[in-house]
Amino acid sequence: MYSLTPPNRDDWEDFLVMCTRRAPENRSVLSGVSAQVEAAYVDYHRQYQKPSRLSAISITKEQSDALKGNFDLFDVGRPFRTLRTQLMAEARNRKCPMCGHRDVATLDHFLPKSVYPEYSALSINLVPVCPYCNNEKGNKLGDAAGRRFVHAYYDTLPEMELLVADVTVDSSVFVTFRIDRPSGFADPLIDNLEYHFKELKLGECFESEAFDELTGRAGMFHYQYANNGGEQGLAAMLSVEAVSERRKAGLNSWRVALYNALARNRDFCSSGFRLLSREDWDF
Ligand SMILES: [Zn+2]
Repeated sequence: MYSLTPPNRDDWEDFLVMCTRRAPENRSVLSGVSAQVEAAYVDYHRQYQKPSRLSAISITKEQSDALKGNFDLFDVGRPFRTLRTQLMAEARNRKCPMCGHRDVATLDHFLPKSVYPEYSALSINLVPVCPYCNNEKGNKLGDAAGRRFVHAYYDTLPEMELLVADVTVDSSVFVTFRIDRPSGFADPLIDNLEYHFKELKLGECFESEAFDELTGRAGMFHYQYANNGGEQGLAAMLSVEAVSERRKAGLNSWRVALYNALARNRDFCSSGFRLLSREDWDF
């Protein structure tokens, strides 16, 4: 999970250009609704914050369909294909900002175009995401409490460990993930982050990935423990992993949370890592 630099576009100019690129019948329909769209563009900053409590502009189905059709101009071979490419290229290491894990492959309408057709081709409403997050988010606007998804362009996550992993060493090594609310931090951003985390099922996703990661690196942990300082050496290596991942993917990456939690867990570093594999590692 990380924030993106907002696209720097003249969105109203883009809309006017889009209208000129449509078939004459759509152009005429769009001109009839352009004043409402212009006002809605100005209002976007307010609209995105509490989408479940606001309504879209009042227009006919024909006008709605014409507005939604503007997004087709982003397809291969169409006039706004370059803008799609530019928006997708902003993703950090090609990773989805909503989960921070999978590769981006599509543009998500932060305010769904089925509900807000006026924002179907507004650059600030188009977030590069992975197909999984796009699908899980669907047309959801938020919940009754006013919580919503985190907006990758507008919501800047504070430089704090908000995604944390809990490691338990028992008959095996168990890892779970959650959103941590720093004490005294009453920012609604954390409420939204909790909603975002739950609705996108990120906990389940990260737990599954953590299992693969740990079992795949069991030999490395054995080697480090045996040859580079035992418990403290292993903890140091895990900390370096966390720092390295942080530089690459940002503080609230699941790997950062995982390696920080492992490095701080004495049960894991002293002997728990041996539970990850039944093999005899002879280093
Ligand atoms: Zn994603």
